[in-house]
Amino acid sequence: MIYTHFIDGALTTGLNRRSWINYNPANNNPLGEVCQANDEDIEAAVNSSEKAFQIWKSKTGAERGRVLITAANILRSRLEQIALSETQDVGKPISESLAVDVSSAADALEYFGGMAAGIHGEFFDLKNAFGYTRREPLGICAGIGAWNYPIQIAAWKAAPALACGNSMIFKPSELTPATALELAKAFMEAGAPPGLFNVVQGDGRVGAMLVDHPGIAKISLTGSVSTGKKIFAGAVAQLKQVTLELGGKSPLIIFEDADIHNAVSAAMLANFYTQGEVCSNGTRVFVNRKIFDNFLRQLKDRTEKIRLGDPADPDTQMGAIISKAHMEKITRFIDSGKSSGATLLTGGFRPGKDFKGRDISSGNFLAPAIFADCDDSMEICREEIFGPVLSILSFDSEEEVIGRANNTPFGLSAGVFTNDLKRGHRVIHQLQAGTCWINNYNITPIELPFGGYKQSGQGRENSLAAIQHYTQLKSVYVELGNVESPY
Ligand code: NAD
Repeated sequence: MIYTHFIDGALTTGLNRRSWINYNPANNNPLGEVCQANDEDIEAAVNSSEKAFQIWKSKTGAERGRVLITAANILRSRLEQIALSETQDVGKPISESLAVDVSSAADALEYFGGMAAGIHGEFFDLKNAFGYTRREPLGICAGIGAWNYPIQIAAWKAAPALACGNSMIFKPSELTPATALELAKAFMEAGAPPGLFNVVQGDGRVGAMLVDHPGIAKISLTGSVSTGKKIFAGAVAQLKQVTLELGGKSPLIIFEDADIHNAVSAAMLANFYTQGEVCSNGTRVFVNRKIFDNFLRQLKDRTEKIRLGDPADPDTQMGAIISKAHMEKITRFIDSGKSSGATLLTGGFRPGKDFKGRDISSGNFLAPAIFADCDDSMEICREEIFGPVLSILSFDSEEEVIGRANNTPFGLSAGVFTNDLKRGHRVIHQLQAGTCWINNYNITPIELPFGGYKQSGQGRENSLAAIQHYTQLKSVYVELGNVESPY
């Protein structure tokens, strides 16, 4: 299998095919070779995207919307095939790829497809004149993706970009090259002009080529803070627009009056879904001292029952870490937690067998880890680990926990569990985070803006808010009287 580019409506290995191997995280067997785009491939992608942009921007919103909604239907009709491909690439359980990854990509296409005909400017009555605004597309937008939600990330960027009349060149993570190609095929089959959604494969160097290319108007990245800073600096040199969806170290605060069963469920979802490789995860779980022991007992008990194993098995609840290198990075964090004095209550080891007794020693599996006796200064409580490692911290007062929760350069997400609705809102309003939940965690409906405060990002994805990040506003003044002139 060769993971090609998709340029001008067709799969292509490119002009100068240099490739490396993509491995299945569940067993480290090779899945195929991945191409690496060079300058000429990028030029071909930009030229074809420019042609498509000229065709696409002259279509009505309703015409564009129809293509997006048709593409959503195509994705849904291939749900099982695409979900399996995602599971093989990422290592996440097939139950997740089916329920969330592909479905949320289709949701985004439907949502922005439905909105496309309604994107409009405003009218201003100016006495003997009037004015109006137009929301015009930016041109060619580049999307650069992370590896944890490959097709969802591609669709969250493509859907608003295309609905607004732009074209897009998308670079998936070098670790997950597969499903962006499925999205590209779906757009073509839905009637998009060739080049409207091109895919170029490759590592960060290919991303940097897109950032530097003068023909590309906007960059939207989902990735780490350090990559975000590089891309921001590159985009500033040409004053390009950016959307940055970056990492986090988010707080989840459990008050003493919370429903403990729900709070434990949320803490597990906030740390162990997709093997803990989720940007918005609530990895600092603050629990009120009055319920601490009870909460911890239930959390440990339920965490030890998580069914870890073969991601392709529909009964599996936790799969494999994306790569050996990433697993080693997570293991280093676990060692750091132990040596800094935190107590590893459970997990953090590499299991040899899965929940059905199958040998999984060749895959990147890590038992979900819970650290107690943590304090805020420990590395495991400050740095994004991006793996199944939960740190639990106790607190006494509302004021104290708000200060501690905000004491981080990140600001992606936050959660609060309480049955006191006044307190829930009061606390959430003081937390420095762009995406918040009261009495749930990590729910990201397409209708709500998603994005971060502080170093966790710039701009927003999803919802009406995304439209302003993929359009520019033109103001038009129309005179109905004479020109008043002093000359
Ligand atoms: P990463 O920053 O290493 O890579 C992200 C993408 O950027 C990849 O496609 C990579 O090839 C590309 N890239 C790397 N260097 C580049 C450069 N100099 N110029 C242009 N492109 C470059 O991140 P990752 O390891 O793929 O993903 C994990 C990170 O992504 C975590 O920090 C996680 O929190 C974050 N993330 C954020 C969100 C969100 O919506 N906020 C969602 C998912 C993941």
